[in-house]
Amino acid sequence: MIKSQFKDWIKLTTIIAENHQEVPDIECPNCHRFGINYQYVGDIKSRAGFLDIWCNSCLNGIHLSRTKAPETVSMLPFDAVEEYKKKVPRFTPIEP
Ligand SMILES: [Zn+2]
Repeated sequence: MIKSQFKDWIKLTTIIAENHQEVPDIECPNCHRFGINYQYVGDIKSRAGFLDIWCNSCLNGIHLSRTKAPETVSMLPFDAVEEYKKKVPRFTPIEP
């Protein structure tokens, strides 16, 4: 069950890449509410870093390391620890 859910979360990365800034209408694969948010963190120049996607309703999500942020999405630099903490809640990572 968890395995198939991870795939659903991975699908969200495509939607995020295509939808640029805001992702208000993505349904959570876990609780099926519309509370998905995401944050890319990494090197602003190369756009390489990691991606967190989480649900604000049930606080489940995924953490993807070694990913590349599309040019169109907002990204935090690695050293923006405070901003990261403010934006990203402590969510339960879904494992593949
Ligand atoms: Zn949820």
